[in-house]
Amino acid sequence: MNIHEYQAKKLLNSFNVATGYGEPAETAEEAVTIAKELSQEFDTKTWVVKAQIHAGGRGKAGGVKLCKSLDEISSYASSLLGSTLVTQQTGPKGQVVRKIYVECASNIASEFYISLVLNRNTQQVCIIASAEGGTDIEEVAEKNPDKIVNLGICSVSGIQGYHSRRVAATLGILDKTKEILHLLQCLYETYLDCDCSLIEINPLVLTKEGSLLALDAKISFDDNALYRHKAIEALNDRFEEDAAETEAKKYDLSYVKLEGNIGCLVNGAGLAMATMDIIQHYGGSPANFLDVGGNANKEQVSKAFQIILKDENVKAILVNIFGGIMRCDIIAHGIIAAASEMQLKVPLIVRLQGTNKDLGKQILNESGLNIIAADGLDEAAKKAVAALKD
Ligand code: ADP
Ligand code: MG
Repeated sequence: MNIHEYQAKKLLNSFNVATGYGEPAETAEEAVTIAKELSQEFDTKTWVVKAQIHAGGRGKAGGVKLCKSLDEISSYASSLLGSTLVTQQTGPKGQVVRKIYVECASNIASEFYISLVLNRNTQQVCIIASAEGGTDIEEVAEKNPDKIVNLGICSVSGIQGYHSRRVAATLGILDKTKEILHLLQCLYETYLDCDCSLIEINPLVLTKEGSLLALDAKISFDDNALYRHKAIEALNDRFEEDAAETEAKKYDLSYVKLEGNIGCLVNGAGLAMATMDIIQHYGGSPANFLDVGGNANKEQVSKAFQIILKDENVKAILVNIFGGIMRCDIIAHGIIAAASEMQLKVPLIVRLQGTNKDLGKQILNESGLNIIAADGLDEAAKKAVAALKD
Protein backbone atom coordinates (compact mmCIF):
# COMPACT_ATOMS: atom_id res chain seq x y z
CA MET A 1 0.00 0.00 0.00
CA ASN A 2 1.18 3.51 -0.80
CA ILE A 3 0.26 6.79 0.86
CA HIS A 4 0.40 10.45 -0.16
CA GLU A 5 3.38 12.71 0.43
CA TYR A 6 1.53 14.75 3.07
CA GLN A 7 0.59 11.59 4.98
CA ALA A 8 4.14 10.25 4.74
CA LYS A 9 5.50 13.51 6.12
CA LYS A 10 3.10 13.45 9.09
CA LEU A 11 4.14 9.87 9.84
CA LEU A 12 7.84 10.77 9.57
CA ASN A 13 7.29 13.77 11.88
CA SER A 14 5.91 11.41 14.51
CA PHE A 15 9.26 9.58 14.34
CA ASN A 16 11.20 12.86 14.69
CA VAL A 17 12.15 13.23 11.04
CA ALA A 18 12.18 16.91 10.05
CA THR A 19 10.11 17.78 6.95
CA GLY A 20 8.76 20.97 5.46
CA TYR A 21 5.70 22.47 7.19
CA GLY A 22 2.42 22.14 5.37
CA GLU A 23 -1.18 20.92 5.18
CA PRO A 24 -3.32 19.23 2.52
CA ALA A 25 -6.24 20.95 0.77
CA GLU A 26 -9.08 19.88 -1.50
CA THR A 27 -10.19 23.31 -2.73
CA ALA A 28 -8.42 26.50 -3.79
CA GLU A 29 -10.03 28.40 -0.87
CA GLU A 30 -8.68 25.87 1.59
CA ALA A 31 -5.23 26.17 0.03
CA VAL A 32 -5.25 29.95 0.48
CA THR A 33 -6.39 29.64 4.11
CA ILE A 34 -3.59 27.17 4.82
CA ALA A 35 -1.05 29.46 3.15
CA LYS A 36 -2.21 32.37 5.34
CA GLU A 37 -1.91 30.25 8.49
CA LEU A 38 1.54 29.02 7.47
CA SER A 39 2.76 32.56 6.84
CA GLN A 40 1.56 33.65 10.28
CA GLU A 41 3.10 30.69 12.06
CA PHE A 42 6.40 30.50 10.18
CA ASP A 43 6.75 34.02 8.85
CA THR A 44 6.95 32.89 5.23
CA LYS A 45 5.94 34.76 2.08
CA THR A 46 6.63 31.95 -0.36
CA TRP A 47 4.92 28.59 -0.55
CA VAL A 48 5.11 25.46 -2.63
CA VAL A 49 1.89 23.90 -3.89
CA LYS A 50 2.15 20.21 -4.76
CA ALA A 51 -0.24 17.76 -6.42
CA GLN A 52 -0.96 14.76 -4.20
CA ILE A 53 -1.04 11.66 -6.36
CA HIS A 54 0.62 8.30 -5.79
CA ALA A 55 3.36 8.99 -8.31
CA GLY A 56 6.59 10.92 -8.46
CA GLY A 57 7.97 13.05 -11.26
CA ARG A 58 5.40 15.75 -10.44
CA GLY A 59 7.94 18.56 -10.52
CA LYS A 60 8.86 17.97 -14.16
CA ALA A 61 5.19 17.47 -15.12
CA GLY A 62 4.00 20.80 -13.71
CA GLY A 63 2.55 19.38 -10.49
CA VAL A 64 4.81 21.36 -8.12
CA LYS A 65 4.93 25.15 -8.09
CA LEU A 66 6.65 27.81 -6.07
CA CYS A 67 4.08 30.55 -5.34
CA LYS A 68 4.89 34.06 -4.20
CA SER A 69 1.39 35.41 -3.53
CA LEU A 70 -1.98 34.18 -2.31
CA ASP A 71 -3.45 34.98 -5.75
CA GLU A 72 -0.87 32.76 -7.37
CA ILE A 73 -1.77 29.94 -4.96
CA SER A 74 -5.46 30.40 -5.68
CA SER A 75 -5.12 30.31 -9.45
CA TYR A 76 -2.59 27.45 -9.50
CA ALA A 77 -4.66 25.39 -7.03
CA SER A 78 -7.80 25.92 -9.13
CA SER A 79 -6.06 24.79 -12.30
CA LEU A 80 -4.39 21.80 -10.65
CA LEU A 81 -7.36 20.39 -8.72
CA GLY A 82 -9.44 18.16 -10.96
CA SER A 83 -6.82 18.13 -13.69
CA THR A 84 -5.08 14.97 -14.89
CA LEU A 85 -1.37 14.92 -14.26
CA VAL A 86 0.77 12.78 -16.53
CA THR A 87 4.22 12.15 -15.07
CA GLN A 88 6.97 9.65 -15.86
CA GLN A 89 5.48 7.37 -13.21
CA THR A 90 1.73 7.61 -13.89
CA GLY A 91 1.63 5.93 -17.29
CA PRO A 92 0.14 7.68 -20.33
CA LYS A 93 -3.36 7.95 -18.83
CA GLY A 94 -2.15 10.05 -15.90
CA GLN A 95 -3.83 10.51 -12.55
CA VAL A 96 -6.56 12.92 -11.50
CA VAL A 97 -5.44 15.41 -8.83
CA ARG A 98 -7.98 15.39 -6.00
CA LYS A 99 -5.78 16.82 -3.27
CA ILE A 100 -2.96 19.28 -3.10
CA TYR A 101 -0.41 20.05 -0.42
CA VAL A 102 0.61 23.58 0.56
CA GLU A 103 4.02 23.84 2.19
CA CYS A 104 6.38 26.62 3.26
CA ALA A 105 9.05 27.05 0.61
CA SER A 106 12.52 26.07 1.77
CA ASN A 107 15.78 27.85 0.97
CA ILE A 108 17.52 24.96 -0.70
CA ALA A 109 21.32 24.83 -0.67
CA SER A 110 21.65 21.21 -1.88
CA GLU A 111 19.36 18.33 -2.78
CA PHE A 112 20.20 14.70 -1.94
CA TYR A 113 18.64 11.28 -2.32
CA ILE A 114 18.17 8.83 0.53
CA SER A 115 16.03 5.74 0.88
CA LEU A 116 15.57 2.59 2.92
CA VAL A 117 14.45 -0.47 1.04
CA LEU A 118 14.51 -4.22 1.50
CA ASN A 119 17.36 -5.99 -0.27
CA ARG A 120 16.02 -9.49 -0.80
CA ASN A 121 19.40 -10.87 -1.85
CA THR A 122 21.11 -9.97 1.42
CA GLN A 123 17.88 -10.24 3.44
CA GLN A 124 18.60 -6.84 4.94
CA VAL A 125 17.07 -3.42 4.91
CA CYS A 126 19.54 -1.25 3.04
CA ILE A 127 20.30 2.44 2.82
CA ILE A 128 20.65 3.94 -0.64
CA ALA A 129 22.06 7.45 -0.76
CA SER A 130 23.30 9.78 -3.45
CA ALA A 131 24.38 13.40 -3.75
CA GLU A 132 22.34 13.55 -6.97
CA GLY A 133 19.02 14.39 -5.34
CA GLY A 134 15.82 15.64 -6.91
CA THR A 135 16.42 13.61 -10.08
CA ASP A 136 15.52 10.06 -11.03
CA ILE A 137 17.63 7.68 -8.99
CA GLU A 138 17.21 5.12 -11.78
CA GLU A 139 18.94 7.50 -14.16
CA VAL A 140 21.81 8.09 -11.73
CA ALA A 141 22.15 4.33 -11.24
CA GLU A 142 22.45 3.88 -14.99
CA LYS A 143 24.77 6.76 -15.84
CA ASN A 144 26.78 7.36 -12.65
CA PRO A 145 26.52 4.23 -10.51
CA ASP A 146 29.56 5.26 -8.43
CA LYS A 147 27.61 8.28 -7.19
CA ILE A 148 25.31 5.98 -5.23
CA VAL A 149 26.13 4.25 -1.96
CA ASN A 150 24.30 1.10 -0.91
CA LEU A 151 24.73 -0.06 2.70
CA GLY A 152 23.10 -3.03 4.37
CA ILE A 153 21.79 -2.70 7.92
CA CYS A 154 22.46 -5.66 10.21
CA SER A 155 19.16 -6.61 11.84
CA VAL A 156 20.93 -7.17 15.19
CA SER A 157 23.15 -4.10 15.48
CA GLY A 158 20.95 -1.64 13.51
CA ILE A 159 22.16 1.79 12.43
CA GLN A 160 25.82 2.33 13.31
CA GLY A 161 28.24 5.25 13.18
CA TYR A 162 29.86 3.97 10.00
CA HIS A 163 26.52 4.13 8.17
CA SER A 164 26.22 7.83 8.88
CA ARG A 165 29.86 8.54 8.03
CA ARG A 166 29.58 6.74 4.68
CA VAL A 167 26.30 8.51 3.86
CA ALA A 168 27.57 11.94 4.95
CA ALA A 169 30.74 11.44 2.89
CA THR A 170 28.71 10.41 -0.16
CA LEU A 171 26.51 13.47 0.19
CA GLY A 172 29.58 15.66 0.73
CA ILE A 173 28.39 16.90 4.12
CA LEU A 174 30.76 15.26 6.61
CA ASP A 175 30.12 18.16 9.03
CA LYS A 176 26.52 16.86 9.27
CA THR A 177 27.45 13.29 10.24
CA LYS A 178 25.68 13.58 13.60
CA GLU A 179 22.49 14.87 12.00
CA ILE A 180 22.65 12.09 9.39
CA LEU A 181 23.02 9.51 12.17
CA HIS A 182 19.89 10.86 13.87
CA LEU A 183 18.02 10.90 10.55
CA LEU A 184 19.02 7.31 9.70
CA GLN A 185 17.99 6.11 13.18
CA CYS A 186 14.59 7.78 12.88
CA LEU A 187 14.01 6.48 9.34
CA TYR A 188 15.01 2.96 10.35
CA GLU A 189 12.70 3.06 13.35
CA THR A 190 9.84 4.18 11.09
CA TYR A 191 10.68 1.42 8.63
CA LEU A 192 10.60 -1.33 11.25
CA ASP A 193 7.74 -0.04 13.41
CA CYS A 194 5.42 0.51 10.46
CA ASP A 195 6.42 -2.58 8.42
CA CYS A 196 7.45 -0.47 5.45
CA SER A 197 8.80 -1.88 2.22
CA LEU A 198 10.19 1.48 1.08
CA ILE A 199 10.91 4.91 2.53
CA GLU A 200 12.24 7.27 -0.11
CA ILE A 201 13.23 10.86 0.55
CA ASN A 202 13.94 12.58 -2.76
CA PRO A 203 15.01 15.23 -2.18
CA LEU A 204 16.47 15.41 1.28
CA VAL A 205 17.68 19.01 1.36
CA LEU A 206 20.27 20.98 3.23
CA THR A 207 18.78 24.44 3.67
CA LYS A 208 20.77 27.65 3.51
CA GLU A 209 20.10 27.91 7.25
CA GLY A 210 21.95 24.60 7.69
CA SER A 211 19.17 22.15 8.55
CA LEU A 212 18.34 18.84 6.90
CA LEU A 213 14.72 18.50 5.74
CA ALA A 214 12.76 15.83 3.90
CA LEU A 215 11.14 17.86 1.10
CA ASP A 216 9.51 14.88 -0.55
CA ALA A 217 8.56 11.53 0.95
CA LYS A 218 7.31 8.28 -0.48
CA ILE A 219 6.41 5.39 1.80
CA SER A 220 5.17 1.95 0.77
CA PHE A 221 3.97 -0.61 3.27
CA ASP A 222 4.06 -4.39 3.25
CA ASP A 223 0.42 -5.37 2.53
CA ASN A 224 0.83 -8.62 4.44
CA ALA A 225 1.55 -6.72 7.65
CA LEU A 226 -1.20 -4.11 7.31
CA TYR A 227 -3.46 -6.01 9.70
CA ARG A 228 -1.05 -4.91 12.45
CA HIS A 229 -1.43 -1.23 11.54
CA LYS A 230 -5.07 -0.20 11.42
CA ALA A 231 -4.18 3.52 11.58
CA ILE A 232 -1.91 3.17 8.54
CA GLU A 233 -4.45 1.07 6.66
CA ALA A 234 -6.95 3.90 7.21
CA LEU A 235 -4.65 6.25 5.26
CA ASN A 236 -5.39 4.32 2.07
CA ASP A 237 -6.80 6.62 -0.60
CA ARG A 238 -9.09 4.41 -2.68
CA PHE A 239 -9.18 6.96 -5.52
CA GLU A 240 -5.51 6.26 -6.16
CA GLU A 241 -6.13 2.59 -6.81
CA ASP A 242 -7.81 0.94 -9.70
CA ALA A 243 -11.42 0.26 -8.55
CA ALA A 244 -11.28 -3.35 -9.74
CA GLU A 245 -8.02 -3.96 -7.87
CA THR A 246 -9.56 -2.64 -4.64
CA GLU A 247 -12.59 -4.87 -5.17
CA ALA A 248 -10.34 -7.89 -5.83
CA LYS A 249 -8.37 -7.25 -2.63
CA LYS A 250 -11.59 -7.46 -0.60
CA TYR A 251 -12.02 -11.03 -1.85
CA ASP A 252 -8.35 -11.97 -1.38
CA LEU A 253 -7.75 -12.19 -5.11
CA SER A 254 -4.44 -11.09 -6.60
CA TYR A 255 -5.53 -8.95 -9.54
CA VAL A 256 -3.57 -6.45 -11.59
CA LYS A 257 -5.21 -4.72 -14.53
CA LEU A 258 -3.18 -4.61 -17.74
CA GLU A 259 -3.63 -3.01 -21.15
CA GLY A 260 -4.50 -6.06 -23.28
CA ASN A 261 -7.80 -7.74 -24.25
CA ILE A 262 -7.59 -11.39 -23.14
CA GLY A 263 -8.94 -11.76 -19.61
CA CYS A 264 -7.13 -14.47 -17.63
CA LEU A 265 -8.44 -16.48 -14.70
CA VAL A 266 -5.70 -18.67 -13.33
CA ASN A 267 -4.75 -20.35 -10.06
CA GLY A 268 -1.22 -19.82 -8.79
CA ALA A 269 1.00 -16.82 -9.46
CA GLY A 270 3.52 -18.86 -11.46
CA LEU A 271 0.90 -20.32 -13.76
CA ALA A 272 -0.66 -16.85 -14.12
CA MET A 273 2.69 -15.43 -15.27
CA ALA A 274 3.24 -18.36 -17.63
CA THR A 275 -0.27 -17.89 -19.06
CA MET A 276 0.39 -14.22 -19.71
CA ASP A 277 3.70 -15.06 -21.37
CA ILE A 278 2.24 -17.71 -23.62
CA ILE A 279 -0.64 -15.44 -24.67
CA GLN A 280 1.95 -12.91 -25.72
CA HIS A 281 4.01 -15.60 -27.43
CA TYR A 282 1.05 -16.35 -29.69
CA GLY A 283 0.50 -12.70 -30.52
CA GLY A 284 -2.18 -11.83 -27.95
CA SER A 285 -2.08 -9.45 -25.06
CA PRO A 286 -3.36 -10.20 -21.52
CA ALA A 287 -5.97 -7.86 -20.01
CA ASN A 288 -4.97 -8.75 -16.47
CA PHE A 289 -3.00 -10.83 -14.07
CA LEU A 290 -5.40 -12.77 -11.87
CA ASP A 291 -4.50 -15.45 -9.40
CA VAL A 292 -7.51 -16.86 -7.57
CA GLY A 293 -5.18 -18.69 -5.17
CA GLY A 294 -4.92 -22.30 -4.16
CA ASN A 295 -7.99 -22.66 -1.99
CA ALA A 296 -10.52 -20.23 -3.45
CA ASN A 297 -14.22 -21.00 -2.95
CA LYS A 298 -17.07 -20.66 -5.42
CA GLU A 299 -17.81 -17.05 -4.35
CA GLN A 300 -14.22 -15.96 -4.92
CA VAL A 301 -14.07 -17.59 -8.35
CA SER A 302 -17.37 -16.03 -9.27
CA LYS A 303 -16.16 -12.59 -8.09
CA ALA A 304 -12.94 -13.01 -10.06
CA PHE A 305 -14.92 -13.82 -13.18
CA GLN A 306 -17.17 -10.79 -12.64
CA ILE A 307 -14.15 -8.49 -12.26
CA ILE A 308 -12.78 -9.75 -15.59
CA LEU A 309 -16.17 -9.36 -17.28
CA LYS A 310 -16.52 -5.76 -16.09
CA ASP A 311 -13.38 -4.76 -17.99
CA GLU A 312 -14.62 -3.36 -21.29
CA ASN A 313 -11.32 -4.12 -23.01
CA VAL A 314 -11.81 -7.85 -22.50
CA LYS A 315 -12.67 -9.52 -25.82
CA ALA A 316 -12.01 -13.15 -24.78
CA ILE A 317 -11.51 -14.97 -21.50
CA LEU A 318 -9.01 -17.72 -20.88
CA VAL A 319 -9.53 -19.87 -17.80
CA ASN A 320 -6.40 -21.86 -17.08
CA ILE A 321 -6.65 -24.02 -13.99
CA PHE A 322 -4.32 -26.64 -12.68
CA GLY A 323 -6.35 -28.37 -10.01
CA GLY A 324 -4.15 -29.37 -7.11
CA ILE A 325 -5.65 -28.20 -3.86
CA MET A 326 -8.08 -26.22 -6.00
CA ARG A 327 -10.77 -28.47 -7.46
CA CYS A 328 -11.84 -27.99 -11.07
CA ASP A 329 -15.53 -28.48 -10.19
CA ILE A 330 -15.38 -25.45 -7.84
CA ILE A 331 -14.00 -23.36 -10.68
CA ALA A 332 -16.79 -24.59 -12.96
CA HIS A 333 -19.49 -23.70 -10.41
CA GLY A 334 -17.93 -20.25 -9.86
CA ILE A 335 -17.87 -19.51 -13.59
CA ILE A 336 -21.50 -20.57 -14.01
CA ALA A 337 -22.60 -18.49 -11.02
CA ALA A 338 -20.89 -15.40 -12.42
CA ALA A 339 -22.11 -16.01 -15.98
CA SER A 340 -25.68 -16.32 -14.79
CA GLU A 341 -25.50 -12.89 -13.11
CA MET A 342 -23.65 -11.10 -15.89
CA GLN A 343 -24.16 -11.84 -19.54
CA LEU A 344 -21.22 -13.58 -21.13
CA LYS A 345 -20.79 -11.98 -24.53
CA VAL A 346 -17.18 -12.86 -25.23
CA PRO A 347 -15.67 -16.24 -26.12
CA LEU A 348 -14.67 -18.35 -23.13
CA ILE A 349 -11.73 -20.70 -23.49
CA VAL A 350 -11.25 -23.19 -20.68
CA ARG A 351 -8.36 -25.46 -19.89
CA LEU A 352 -8.84 -27.62 -16.81
CA GLN A 353 -6.24 -30.05 -15.52
CA GLY A 354 -5.85 -31.97 -12.29
CA THR A 355 -8.23 -32.66 -9.45
CA ASN A 356 -11.83 -33.32 -10.61
CA LYS A 357 -11.10 -32.06 -14.14
CA ASP A 358 -13.65 -34.40 -15.73
CA LEU A 359 -16.33 -33.35 -13.28
CA GLY A 360 -15.45 -29.71 -13.95
CA LYS A 361 -15.69 -30.20 -17.70
CA GLN A 362 -18.98 -32.05 -17.35
CA ILE A 363 -20.48 -29.26 -15.22
CA LEU A 364 -19.42 -26.66 -17.78
CA ASN A 365 -20.69 -28.75 -20.72
CA GLU A 366 -24.09 -29.15 -19.10
CA SER A 367 -24.34 -25.45 -18.23
CA GLY A 368 -25.31 -24.41 -21.76
CA LEU A 369 -22.49 -21.84 -21.79
CA ASN A 370 -20.65 -21.48 -25.06
CA ILE A 371 -17.25 -22.82 -24.11
CA ILE A 372 -14.19 -23.52 -26.22
CA ALA A 373 -12.39 -26.39 -24.53
CA ALA A 374 -8.63 -26.73 -24.71
CA ASP A 375 -6.25 -29.38 -23.47
CA GLY A 376 -2.75 -27.96 -23.15
CA LEU A 377 -1.41 -24.52 -22.34
CA ASP A 378 -0.33 -23.93 -25.96
CA GLU A 379 -3.67 -24.94 -27.38
CA ALA A 380 -5.51 -22.75 -24.86
CA ALA A 381 -3.44 -19.68 -25.69
CA LYS A 382 -3.71 -20.26 -29.46
CA LYS A 383 -7.49 -20.67 -29.22
CA ALA A 384 -7.81 -17.52 -27.09
CA VAL A 385 -5.84 -15.48 -29.63
CA ALA A 386 -7.80 -17.02 -32.52
CA ALA A 387 -11.13 -16.27 -30.78
CA LEU A 388 -10.34 -12.55 -30.95
CA LYS A 389 -10.38 -12.71 -34.74
CA ASP A 390 -13.72 -14.49 -35.07
P1 ADP B 1 8.42 14.97 -7.44
O1 ADP B 1 9.45 14.04 -6.93
O2 ADP B 1 7.09 14.31 -7.61
O3 ADP B 1 8.86 15.69 -8.68
P2 ADP B 1 9.14 16.73 -5.23
O4 ADP B 1 8.38 16.85 -3.97
O5 ADP B 1 10.42 15.98 -5.17
O6 ADP B 1 8.16 16.11 -6.33
O7 ADP B 1 9.39 18.19 -5.78
C1 ADP B 1 10.12 18.46 -6.94
C2 ADP B 1 11.12 19.59 -6.68
O8 ADP B 1 10.44 20.74 -6.20
C3 ADP B 1 12.13 19.26 -5.59
O9 ADP B 1 13.24 18.57 -6.10
C4 ADP B 1 12.48 20.62 -5.06
O10 ADP B 1 13.50 21.22 -5.84
C5 ADP B 1 11.21 21.43 -5.25
N1 ADP B 1 10.46 21.54 -3.98
C6 ADP B 1 9.59 20.66 -3.47
N2 ADP B 1 9.11 21.06 -2.26
C7 ADP B 1 9.71 22.23 -2.00
C8 ADP B 1 9.67 23.17 -0.91
N3 ADP B 1 8.90 22.98 0.16
N4 ADP B 1 10.43 24.28 -0.99
C9 ADP B 1 11.23 24.50 -2.08
N5 ADP B 1 11.33 23.68 -3.12
C10 ADP B 1 10.59 22.55 -3.10
MG1 MG C 1 10.63 13.86 -5.35
